[in-house]
Amino acid sequence: MKFLFRLRLGAATVRVEEERDLKDQNNEVHGYSEELKDVSRDDWLIRLESQLHPRAKALTLLHEMLHVIDDSNGLGLGESKIRKLEQALGQAFRDNPIHLGQMVRDLARE
Ligand SMILES: [Zn+2]
Repeated sequence: MKFLFRLRLGAATVRVEEERDLKDQNNEVHGYSEELKDVSRDDWLIRLESQLHPRAKALTLLHEMLHVIDDSNGLGLGESKIRKLEQALGQAFRDNPIHLGQMVRDLARE
């Protein structure tokens, strides 16, 4: 596996990695997230399939970020609502790259 970057999501730190031929307990997956219970410096791990098209990888990262936000805030959204949010937000970012890119830059300002 390869370390990609670290995200902050609220109070949590999330280590993002990628791996080829990613699988979970059941079958091949595009990505997964899990809470880290050890003494690692990170609270969560997101792992992405390395062979995905960049757009699919971005959507998978968005999806797994939503899982972390859901779980760490006790929202109880579950898979189908997360999938709908992923699709809606992914489409909004894709359809409005200039305005939403500016929104992200404005949010990052001090
Ligand atoms: Zn999911």
